[in-house]
Amino acid sequence: MTILDDFKIKALNSKFANGEPRSILEHSILNLFKNKIAYVCSFGTESAIILHIISKISKDIPILILNTHFLFEETIKYKDDLLKLLGLRNCHEVFPDDKLLKKFDSDNDLWKTEVDKCCNLRKVLPLEKSLTNFEAWISGRKTYHLGERQNLKAFEIINKKIVVNPLFKSSKDFVENYFLLNELPKHPLVAKGYLSIGCKHCTIKTNNIKDLREGRWSDKTKTECGIHLEKIEKKEKKEKKERNG
Ligand code: SF4
Repeated sequence: MTILDDFKIKALNSKFANGEPRSILEHSILNLFKNKIAYVCSFGTESAIILHIISKISKDIPILILNTHFLFEETIKYKDDLLKLLGLRNCHEVFPDDKLLKKFDSDNDLWKTEVDKCCNLRKVLPLEKSLTNFEAWISGRKTYHLGERQNLKAFEIINKKIVVNPLFKSSKDFVENYFLLNELPKHPLVAKGYLSIGCKHCTIKTNNIKDLREGRWSDKTKTECGIHLEKIEKKEKKEKKERNG
């Protein structure tokens, strides 16, 4: 159960409507969810910003990376380099459950035919388990990433956890300037034409700077892996099925 209800979330969103990332993070880490918050980090193209701000607040904030077994080698190396550079010392790789992989994806090719199931197995379920003891988690989503992200606010409730979006209002210019001003290294694949980086099977290069996530599941209608989506409970699914006949 979350400690915040919709009413309090609304008040927080009003308080942090200006979208100042450091204030949102400080208030969340030091006050609201002390020792009960983690950063779920993809170590993608823009992750260094939140990592950098967190490193100024506490080097011991838990950082979780969902290692689907399909990450680019460059992402793992970038993770190691960034953690060392910023002195962060509490990072955990979260892996899919071996038994479930054996049962549902023994040939490691579910991504070819059933992307939603693959993401559920390799991202959604492992994250759910790893967040058991946390009340809140930090996400790096931004409104300029478009799609489902356009209506983001600083705080939201997803699957009974608080999700904190410190960069929700940050612009592309803010991101670029932040990297420059703080001399942060870019993900090595950015220079090779990747504007958004996830699993290697579902990420391609793109030069569409107006839709940075175009290179993700580019041949599918899918736009999100599912970790930010409200889970439809079995009961609701059943009711929906009955309603639709
Ligand atoms: S992004 Fe692709 S490979 Fe990675 S978990 Fe989702 S479907 Fe599977």
